[in-house]
Amino acid sequence: MTAAPIHDPETGQYAPCPCGCQGATGPGAASHWHQRKGPLPLLRARHGLERWQAPRWLDHWYRLRLPDGRWCYVAEPYDLGADALEDLVWLGQQGYEVSITAWQARHYPGHALAVRIVETSR
Ligand SMILES: [Zn+2]
Repeated sequence: MTAAPIHDPETGQYAPCPCGCQGATGPGAASHWHQRKGPLPLLRARHGLERWQAPRWLDHWYRLRLPDGRWCYVAEPYDLGADALEDLVWLGQQGYEVSITAWQARHYPGHALAVRIVETSR
């Protein structure tokens, strides 16, 4: 798989949001998260959600292939409430690296937050 395009607003390089809202997803990325692996099935089980449901904070969600082959699961909501923060702490306890930045948001830089969830190598 080809590497994802560079997104670094500091250097004026903007990559499109891969969730599908801006058309093509682009290389190194896929729309939404895996159904059967990664954080989505865990979150569904945690909240008793059906297969077509997802937590409210999964807005502009996509996944990126990291250079080492792992997937980085990204959601870009405009706000994070206590429900989202509790989910993120919980995912950290399940063995994921969780980070929240503004500069990595692709959907609407300066407004959306990029929540990044990466499986740690165990
Ligand atoms: Zn989007």
